[in-house]
Amino acid sequence: MGIFKKRPTVEIRIIKKKALQMILESAKSSYPNEFGALLRAEEGEISELILLPGTISGNSQAIFQLYMRPIDFSIVGSAHSHPSGNYSPSEADLDFFRRTGSVHVIVGYPYTMRTWAAYNVLGERIELEVL
Ligand code: ZN
Repeated sequence: MGIFKKRPTVEIRIIKKKALQMILESAKSSYPNEFGALLRAEEGEISELILLPGTISGNSQAIFQLYMRPIDFSIVGSAHSHPSGNYSPSEADLDFFRRTGSVHVIVGYPYTMRTWAAYNVLGERIELEVL
């Protein structure tokens, strides 16, 4: 093992059930408005949400405009809700994805364990295991 081993990029494959439930609960309490948060990961597992201030009544365009991202390398992506129930990313979402990280969760109304999906930075579906 070399001393100058390159630090590997940890691929995120897991979301803690608690974190997903918190996204769903926050989405429910914000309904009919949109909810937004950043995702924090530890050792490849999404473990925590960081709520974005001032976004409770916004759409993702507003989230992007209002939020100044802190320098925090444990932030791996974002989560937000779609009150319409369609949990595919919009054009504005793709722009938001590029600015917030590599893993993105969208939850759709009625915000259950079956009405969400995870996307990569390009807006393509990825699998996240709920643990
Ligand atoms: Zn959206």
